Amino acid sequence: MTTKTTKKTAPTECPRCGHDKLDLIHTSPVAGVWEIYHCQQCLYSWRTSEPARRTQRDAYPDSFKMTIEDIRNAVELPVIPPLRKS
Ligand SMILES: [Zn+2]
Repeated sequence: MTTKTTKKTAPTECPRCGHDKLDLIHTSPVAGVWEIYHCQQCLYSWRTSEPARRTQRDAYPDSFKMTIEDIRNAVELPVIPPLRKS
């Protein structure tokens, strides 16, 4: 019988900006299934069980990658609309 194994090594760089200062912010209720990491530089966060295009720098889409210049010059931030009153 073969068992499918997945890579369980902690990430060393942010998929989006390549920064190496990452925080482990949450772990799965069942130990060892996934972790959630957070980048201290660009604030991207991801769960390790997400696909490679969301979790690995070399697979992350180029058009969504950020450099330190992009982050410093980011002038447009998403606006969260007020809650609707139902
Ligand atoms: Zn980052």
